[in-house]
Amino acid sequence: MTWGLYIHVPFCIRKCPYCDFYSVSDLSRQAEYVDALVAEMAMRARADAVFDTVYLGGGTPSVLTPSAVERILDAACKHFSILPDVEVTLEANPGTVTQKSLSACRSAGVNRLNIGVQSFNDANLAFLGRIHTANQAMAALQAAGRAGFENIGLDLIYGLPHQNENAWHADLSAAAAFSPPHISCYMLTFEPGTKMAADKDAGRFAPLSEERVSAMFVQAAEFLSGRGYQHYEISNFAAANKSRSRHNLKYWQNLPYLGLGPAAHSYTAPERFWNCRSVDTYISEISSGRKPTAETERLTDSQMMIEALYLGLRQAGGIDIPGFEGRFGVDFQEMFGPAAAPFINSGKMGLDAQCCRLTREGMLLLDTIAAELSEIIE
Ligand code: SF4
Repeated sequence: MTWGLYIHVPFCIRKCPYCDFYSVSDLSRQAEYVDALVAEMAMRARADAVFDTVYLGGGTPSVLTPSAVERILDAACKHFSILPDVEVTLEANPGTVTQKSLSACRSAGVNRLNIGVQSFNDANLAFLGRIHTANQAMAALQAAGRAGFENIGLDLIYGLPHQNENAWHADLSAAAAFSPPHISCYMLTFEPGTKMAADKDAGRFAPLSEERVSAMFVQAAEFLSGRGYQHYEISNFAAANKSRSRHNLKYWQNLPYLGLGPAAHSYTAPERFWNCRSVDTYISEISSGRKPTAETERLTDSQMMIEALYLGLRQAGGIDIPGFEGRFGVDFQEMFGPAAAPFINSGKMGLDAQCCRLTREGMLLLDTIAAELSEIIE
């Protein structure tokens, strides 16, 4: 079983109002952060794990200089056992890259770029508080190709207030025109504690109705499927099997991963732990020779079963029934069949001896359906 290595880069030039990932916009401690990260690698080196993905996420990893990226990747290769065909992803914000910086990251060992385009419409980008324009997004995609990246992911966000079907179609068409191997379409959500959630609650804008957002989900799935993309996970589309995000599949398929950096999470069944959510504490803990772990949790079988339901149903391939039964020692059909029946009868779900999966319509009800099935577990 191969592991994934996640590295959280907790810096952003400016905080986007919808975002609840941990990041700070004071970039002054970057060099100390990289020193601490390399020291954390030494602390968490483990002989029992072989890695086939490295994912620099954030935050905005592309604010790091290419030489910092190179130092991080060199240190990862020194402290961990990494397979030669490793997938190395860097999340890039179009407002922070040039062809030169991308070429240097490519030479440093990054072989997959995930570009946070979000929209090709400047008004949408302004609403989302992004630092880049539509032209910069297009320039970043072109620069990525010229820098030698073939494996490119392009992120879009939909469901903005005032966004209509035509505007969403324009974004999808603009994305597809670049033929990226991977496209993610994320529904705009209003996470508690974010500025955007507060603005919504204060009535500063009216969110789109659930029906219209759902229609946009279906629109994206139809549009991209019609252009040959596989809808392999609720928000993710791949041009081919090989262009699926190998790293993100680890999260959805119960595979182990080690997370480094502030707020990063790690998991190897049944244990999960996460680092402190503060750059300052992270640096000071590591300088004092301590691991920056905030908390460790041991999952019960019931908790793992609930997670397996949620994560399995997110994926087009669904829950692998023989795998689930082997792992938990239960009869899936006997346990969940009655609760699943109404969803199967209404065309939201399919269930046979091999798998339990949601239809496209069912994916819109993922949380409701997974919660109903989870109620049986105790
Ligand atoms: S750039 Fe990304 S990580 Fe940073 S605040 Fe915006 S959405 Fe969040």
